[in-house]
Amino acid sequence: MLLQKLIKSILPKNLSDKIEAESRSWMVQCPNCKYERSYWDMGGLRWGAAGNPKINKLCSNCHTLSWHIVYKKVG
Ligand SMILES: [Zn+2]
Repeated sequence: MLLQKLIKSILPKNLSDKIEAESRSWMVQCPNCKYERSYWDMGGLRWGAAGNPKINKLCSNCHTLSWHIVYKKVG
């Protein structure tokens, strides 16, 4: 993903690693089939954020457009 490559090339490694780790701890779940993957795996970045937003996207598992739940995985 272009944005992920960009932060890795412009930011110091320890900082970009932190952003990657945090983006990986945020999960995006399909309300329809419960399929989930991390924000990072979706090609996104999420850092220094709070709350549980919802994003309208097409599920890559059940191919349904729905409001996916974003939540932070604990542990
Ligand atoms: Zn789904």
